Amino acid sequence: MNAELQLAKRKMLREHLRRRGIHDRRVLQAIQDTPRERFVLPEAEEQAYADTALGIDCGQTISQPYIVALMTEALNLTGSEKVLEIGTGSGYQTALLAALAARVVSIERHAELSAQAGRRLAELGCSNVRLEIGDGTRGWPEEAPYDRILVTAAAEACPPALLEQLAEGGVLLMPVGGPGDQDLVRWEKRGGKLERQSLGGCRFVPLVGDLPAGK
Ligand code: SAH
Repeated sequence: MNAELQLAKRKMLREHLRRRGIHDRRVLQAIQDTPRERFVLPEAEEQAYADTALGIDCGQTISQPYIVALMTEALNLTGSEKVLEIGTGSGYQTALLAALAARVVSIERHAELSAQAGRRLAELGCSNVRLEIGDGTRGWPEEAPYDRILVTAAAEACPPALLEQLAEGGVLLMPVGGPGDQDLVRWEKRGGKLERQSLGGCRFVPLVGDLPAGK
């Protein structure tokens, strides 16, 4: 990594993450160790550590670093969890999950994005990740239940299959709402019941697939 990117990365960690309340040491370390510049388009490499979402192929985006950090922290990963991610996209969030959990299953509907993400993750030596191509609204029953589920695309309601595939004591995070007005929602399964909590506003690309009607 060149000196300018190194400086930008340090600045991002200090100003956009720590100063805005991200304090989990493991999360900050994983972000420190993961080269975001390898997950963006080559022409956007210099902006890899700006606190902004960036365009990737197939009209999708790599999420804003602060939101990625916020979601990752809210998952409370200790290293032993099995995680399901819907929306592999660039694979950047997947790499962080792989560093912080025991196993990650990540689903992407665009085969091209999944293939690119697979190459990047292999280069970084992530061996605890399974990438699948398909409609993630159905989850991935084969390896259910999951201790954590992270959906990185928005819809008006959470697909029921995902809530079903959440383990007891597990946490599911998903942006809920329409294109302009979304709320990051955290569900926790306790005694078979779902507790819902709002973590604040956010903006994600739409989840495309077999979806339940909103509210
Ligand atoms: N975490 C990714 C975010 C990518 S944007 C990153 O930081 O790079 C969200 C992704 O969800 C897009 O790649 C989009 O193609 C994918 N997506 C949307 N609906 C989906 C669905 N039903 N199943 C699987 N992937 C989906």
